[in-house]
Amino acid sequence: MGESVPFKKRFSAAALFGAGLRGQRNWPALWRSPEPRKTYQVLIIGGGGHGLATAYHLARDWGIRDVAVIEKGWIGGGNTGRNTTVVRSNYYYPASARFYQRSVEMYQGLSDALNFNIMFSQRGIVTLAFSPHELNLMARQVNAMQLNGIAAEILTRDDIARLLPHCDLSATARFPCVGGFLHASGGTARHDAVAWGYARAADTLGVDILQNVEVLGFEQMGGRVCAVQTNAGRIGAEKVAIAVAGNSTVVAGLAGIDLPVRSQTLQAFVSEPLKPVLDIVVMSGLHHTYVSQSDKGELVIGGDSDTMTSYAQRGSFATIERTTTGLLELFPAFSRVRLMRQWGGTVDLTPDRSPIIDRTSLDGLYISTGWGTGGFKAIPAGGAALAHFIAHDAADEYSSAFTFDRFRRGALLDEGAASGVAH
Ligand SMILES: Cc1cc2nc3c(=O)[nH]c(=O)nc-3n(C[C@H](O)[C@H](O)[C@H](O)COP(=O)(O)OP(=O)(O)OC[C@H]3O[C@@H](n4cnc5c(N)ncnc54)[C@H](O)[C@@H]3O)c2cc1C
Repeated sequence: MGESVPFKKRFSAAALFGAGLRGQRNWPALWRSPEPRKTYQVLIIGGGGHGLATAYHLARDWGIRDVAVIEKGWIGGGNTGRNTTVVRSNYYYPASARFYQRSVEMYQGLSDALNFNIMFSQRGIVTLAFSPHELNLMARQVNAMQLNGIAAEILTRDDIARLLPHCDLSATARFPCVGGFLHASGGTARHDAVAWGYARAADTLGVDILQNVEVLGFEQMGGRVCAVQTNAGRIGAEKVAIAVAGNSTVVAGLAGIDLPVRSQTLQAFVSEPLKPVLDIVVMSGLHHTYVSQSDKGELVIGGDSDTMTSYAQRGSFATIERTTTGLLELFPAFSRVRLMRQWGGTVDLTPDRSPIIDRTSLDGLYISTGWGTGGFKAIPAGGAALAHFIAHDAADEYSSAFTFDRFRRGALLDEGAASGVAH
């Protein structure tokens, strides 16, 4: 029903209020569900945050509106809707810092840009240290961040006691805390809202979002991609982009392209809702644990990845045990809190833990991959960067370090230590 009603009328406050009074029935759809057309100028495979943001930027920034996003399930059903929603720019190398800082700044304006509340909350991130050596490494990280123009400060144990009154800072803790550092502009955003906001905005600009359509193969002519085969038939295209996270090697493999990417499971957990108890994101590399509290009151908990290659979106019990053990060592009071849900996502890890945004060896075929355990924060800048690449056949000024070329030249951007916990 929402398809024929003008956008402004559909989403006016009065329309939403009226819909609420009707008992949440007959709400307008946020985006259309069109039948696939025979051809598009650009096809984007993957309806996660990166694919949807790419479609939005193609249409908004470069006027390329003959675009479809092809999603084998439902949009946001991959890692975008499975992550722990941490947004940060505490990276080491200038190229990474510039890119991720741009993404944080884009997040700051995203609710307005999309006219969709993505609940971005820059509540700050504290990373804890448990040895003088770890604290020295953090000082180096803080120096690098400051040189990159990103606010960061070393914290003493007293600072941490003030910020985290429920954290066990006693000398008898298994690992006594010696300090940490604060990344004040880091925080969280609502993951589903990011996918839905981009989807609605892209749809409004004319992009077709095709859910339940799976890409099964590529067609090429004269060394150039010209179509994809799907469970809904053949769809022709001038250009095709792959943005499928943990499925990257599988989908690129359909075009005969080999990627330096490994797929592993990363798990997350949420507890039952609690009254406000934690107003900052806390990370501990030593405990392989990080935690924040959602606006609903749930503790949102993450840990390290399951180390075997897997496409199962579940994960092993050993990781659940390790993560929750670490959490309880940090916050013993949480021992009485019940875990409500656990799940896994398939993450796409490169050897240097930095992403790839580039063209492939097949003309007209582009890829955005390698976001691994930290690509939610990169969705705004990553979408803008892939759209730029598709429109201009060249990287934008923020993402030029993230091409395949770095593996040939050995110019790796090793950001393994930039994750909150080791992966
Ligand atoms: C548990 C967990 C916690 C995380 N925590 C954080 C965090 O706190 N902060 C952060 O920045 N990042 C985090 N991440 C990483 C982040 O979620 C991802 O890097 C990011 O969401 C990747 O987005 P995407 O759009 O590339 O992929 P996805 O959201 O996975 O989207 C890819 C889509 O492609 C579709 N697809 C696959 N194959 C095909 C096909 N053949 N045809 C059509 N469609 C296909 C999939 O169904 C999927 O919907 C976490 C990840 C997980 C799993």
